[in-house]
Amino acid sequence: MTLEGKVALVTGSTSGIGLGIARSLAGAGASIMMNGFGNADDIERVRAQLAEEHGGHVAFDDADLSRREEVNRLVVETIDVLGSVDVLVNNAGIQFVAPIEEFPDDRWEAIIGLNLSAAFYSMKAAIPAMKANGWGRIINVASAHGLVASPNKIAYVAAKHGIVGATKVAALELADHGVTVNAICPGWVLTPLVEGQLLDRAEQSGTTVEVEMERLLAEKQPMSKFTTPESIGAMAVFLCGDEAETITGAAISIDGGWTAQ
Ligand code: NAD
Repeated sequence: MTLEGKVALVTGSTSGIGLGIARSLAGAGASIMMNGFGNADDIERVRAQLAEEHGGHVAFDDADLSRREEVNRLVVETIDVLGSVDVLVNNAGIQFVAPIEEFPDDRWEAIIGLNLSAAFYSMKAAIPAMKANGWGRIINVASAHGLVASPNKIAYVAAKHGIVGATKVAALELADHGVTVNAICPGWVLTPLVEGQLLDRAEQSGTTVEVEMERLLAEKQPMSKFTTPESIGAMAVFLCGDEAETITGAAISIDGGWTAQ
């Protein structure tokens, strides 16, 4: 399966799942626009390595996607620098954990802003180019929390359920334009986003990260192992292929059985 000649914009691809998806799409031949935060030297090292390993174009833009105008600028920049935006992966996301009555208003707004609104703005900006080309793939990284809830994650669960709904609307609107729109719903993936939660849990309960890792998996997943960014990347590549041309509007679980219960 080759994505040669295609351009993929992967938001939040300096780390974790987004980086896994960017690697897989680059491996399949796509040119990549990376985005996200982090140490500039580390990001440049990864960007250069991806470009060298796969012989394609890999660009980076540090757009802050909590700001609407930056989302629009990132899409325009991708088209300017790499020629088009054929694959859009909305992956950038943040988390905050607290009961509703203690949940800070600014965390609610930040999570809804990045995990949900940024995906709306990027789809809105990218869809005209995809329609004009008669081909496109939009992949929204949702979560098991797009399908079921957990306590203390009001903003995250609301945003992830929202992105699953937005995925379905976009799929319907684009059904006859050669553009598919799907959500990937991972269970636990060991990334900085989850490592932060493990550290907090270990601190609060006086245990270790290793103990909390086992507990975290046991609480939610029948399968006591993490999903890897590589597996999610492979799923993204599959969704971009011709074989997946009629998969649209789907929320695809990759969650060790989490949502089967
Ligand atoms: P991560 O913290 O490793 O990566 C998040 C990425 O988003 C980073 O590249 C970061 O720089 C970027 N980012 C953060 N704020 C940004 C902003 N304002 N503008 C642009 N980029 C920004 O987290 P991850 O676990 O890889 O999460 C990626 C996605 O996967 C998120 O949407 C998350 O909700 C989802 N997800 C994660 C898990 C998990 O277990 N890790 C499970 C299900 C879904």
